[in-house]
Amino acid sequence: MSILSEIKSQIPANVRLVAVSKTQSIEAIQALYGEGQRIFGENKAQELKDKAETLPQDIEWHFIGHLQSNKVKYIAPFIKLIHAVDSLDLLQEINKQALKNGRVIDCLLQFKIAVEETKFGLDWESASQLLAAPILPQLQNIRLVGVMGMGSFTDDEAAVRIEFQTLKSYFERLKSGFFVDQADFKEISMGMSGDYPIAIEEGSTMVRIGTLLFGARRY
Ligand SMILES: *Cc1c(COP(=O)(O)O)cnc(C)c1O
Repeated sequence: MSILSEIKSQIPANVRLVAVSKTQSIEAIQALYGEGQRIFGENKAQELKDKAETLPQDIEWHFIGHLQSNKVKYIAPFIKLIHAVDSLDLLQEINKQALKNGRVIDCLLQFKIAVEETKFGLDWESASQLLAAPILPQLQNIRLVGVMGMGSFTDDEAAVRIEFQTLKSYFERLKSGFFVDQADFKEISMGMSGDYPIAIEEGSTMVRIGTLLFGARRY
């Protein structure tokens, strides 16, 4: 059995697999594509643009990392989902570039759930502020479809489980507070090579897996 089918056999049908192909070669991506994988995730806008131009058009590209506002234009024509939105400024820029391309771009709000120091991700307070911003309803070319988070890099499974439970609870609170009538607000992007089984148990709808699929990272 291939690694892809092995991993897929452990993922329920309602959970999507994003193959994280950052730093991987065109050939490596083509090999997984050949096995039927269609969703790929990248975290550098220019690299993603180059890969998207070379690889088959029916690939669904996701942007999974921190996105700088001045890079949005590279991916706006084709990106399917932006996983890690953590500011109103970025959301406005995505809206602007989506409008230019005559598109609506789906986005997830990134929450900071790990105890580790990281610059990126919202807490509950800043997320509610963002969602209450008067300008938000005017952003007709973005659509918020859920939340994303990264668990701590640790062997402490119980700690990671609590982080995923926290993200799930943020999702539920947002759903009932801001998105009650929006059926498409339904995604919880959590789980990577080291912790995806826990994430699935805690309600993930999308796992982002790189190392397990492609072997050692090539940085
Ligand atoms: C690299 C990366 C992943 C994949 O991590 P692996 O441990 O290689 O599976 C998932 N999500 C984000 C945001 C990443 O940057």
